[in-house]
Amino acid sequence: MIIDGKKIAAEYRKEIQDEIKSMGGRPPGLAVILVGKDPASETYVKNKQKACSEVGIVSKTYNLDENIEEAELLATIQMLNLDPEIDGILVQQPLPDHLNTMKIVEEVLPEKDVDGFHPLNLGRVMIGDPRGFVPCTPLGILKLMEKSNIDPDSKRVVIVGRSNIVGKPLASLLMQKRNGCNATVTVVHSKSQNFHKICAHAEILITAIGKPEFITDKYIQKGAIVIDVGINRVTQNGKSTLVGDVDFEKASQVASQITPVPGGVGPMTIAMLLYNTLKSRKNR
Ligand code: NAP
Repeated sequence: MIIDGKKIAAEYRKEIQDEIKSMGGRPPGLAVILVGKDPASETYVKNKQKACSEVGIVSKTYNLDENIEEAELLATIQMLNLDPEIDGILVQQPLPDHLNTMKIVEEVLPEKDVDGFHPLNLGRVMIGDPRGFVPCTPLGILKLMEKSNIDPDSKRVVIVGRSNIVGKPLASLLMQKRNGCNATVTVVHSKSQNFHKICAHAEILITAIGKPEFITDKYIQKGAIVIDVGINRVTQNGKSTLVGDVDFEKASQVASQITPVPGGVGPMTIAMLLYNTLKSRKNR
């Protein structure tokens, strides 16, 4: 069975749109900062702007020069931190090498950090404090599982990848008692021994490594649920396409449920950005 992230994300977007309509008053506001002209980042930002306008969130994009001084970028963030009409601030990553990403992330007021990348918000995720913002991709995965009736309680979950924005927060969330997830979580990465055996033991396998179609049927236990976070651009037969970390054809022979790429986790990430921006508006 294919888990239709596009459909589930559309349901969330509709709920968010209805709530914004019924809320009245000032609409939620999101500021998106894009430094430079990375084509993938430009596309992501465009998609986020479109999604915002569809649900009634006012989004303002700040296109900044790729050679911008760090101090100038920090000043832009400080100005947005003080702007009463801005509920969320998103700095599109990756940033050019001369900028200190962690310093930039920490400059965003935690109350406006709708990406959930600020250490305070990640700490809150870790201890299960619901006041924080959960990073959009892990939050989207939890919601995708919920809507697909996938209950992680007491299941063996293996997460492939230990990034700060996907693997680590997702592991914290899935093992937590407070949110009722209660999974037994194993995280594997590029230094893990017996990597494929560990994966093949999972009842739920979640991959976030950025390696096109790396995970084949030999990594997957029969009947396992497979959630593919990877987004990789490849050229096939002279055409550029997007594929996940999972070899969808092979994996779908053994998995009981599987997310496609595109149309799986990706749309949920954008829906959760809208969700977090609305949450911030309500908090503020
Ligand atoms: P990242 O920061 O590059 O981290 C990748 C992780 O994968 C690292 O922990 C790395 O291990 C591990 N890894 C890499 N190659 C491996 C291998 N051969 N075997 C085992 N582990 C391996 O990645 P990220 O930001 O989490 O993104 C991962 C993927 O998800 C990318 O394709 C990205 O585009 C995609 N993504 C999608 C969404 C969405 O909305 N769908 C959102 C975010 C990211 P080490 O730590 O040992 O290096």
